[in-house]
Amino acid sequence: MSRKKIVAGNWKMNSTLKEAKDLVSAIVKNKPLNQKSTCIIFPPFVYLPELIKLFGKEISFGAQNCSSFKKGAYTGEVSAEMLADICCEYVLIGHSERRSYFNETSEQLIDKIKLALQHKLKVIFCFGELLKDREANTQFNVVEEQLLSVLKKLNEKELKQITLAYEPVWAIGTGLTATPNQAEEMHFFIRTSLQNNFGAEYANSVQILYGGSCNATNAEELFSCPNVDGGLIGGASLKGNDFVSIIKASL
Ligand code: PEP
Repeated sequence: MSRKKIVAGNWKMNSTLKEAKDLVSAIVKNKPLNQKSTCIIFPPFVYLPELIKLFGKEISFGAQNCSSFKKGAYTGEVSAEMLADICCEYVLIGHSERRSYFNETSEQLIDKIKLALQHKLKVIFCFGELLKDREANTQFNVVEEQLLSVLKKLNEKELKQITLAYEPVWAIGTGLTATPNQAEEMHFFIRTSLQNNFGAEYANSVQILYGGSCNATNAEELFSCPNVDGGLIGGASLKGNDFVSIIKASL
């Protein structure tokens, strides 16, 4: 089964509004016109309305997080409904920085995913092992636990609307990319686990992105792995030329 590739840029807490507009403008101007892959930018919340208005016809946008609560007295939170209201298309859920710095649990992630899907947002669900897990050779158990503890709480319709992003935490922002063999080994393992738990049709159709120091130099090799369906890019998505090269590597 051929799966469409996705290249997603997670800007994290970076850029001013002017830098954000300049960067999206450069990406939109230079990115190849293509039907073969989907390109998504995840800027900070506050820039989303303006960027969507200016560039929403040319590129997709997503939020880096959403609240696990529907609405109400939750100071500082942004709800899935609010994101849908400004025509935001995607949301990242479960990024390792949210899990580690903000103690997000699988239970909260399930609530976030359900609310996001209720509001027709497309979800990219992130997970991945820590360095200590890989050193102890427990990465497969850890990843399967993170994945199944969430996916098993979703119904068939919800499952089909989620994209997965395997992001080994030891590779995020460290320059230590997983080798194509390591990435393919884990993506194959994930797909096999999905097949055992949810059936072959689902396992073969779900897109699984790789994230962790993916850049203009290594993207082509990573994206050519049979079970890698594109990338979630942090640092390199803040450089227009590099991000455009990564998009080209997905074609
Ligand atoms: C990320 O934050 O999802 C990420 C993959 O970051 P980086 O590419 O900088 O490792």
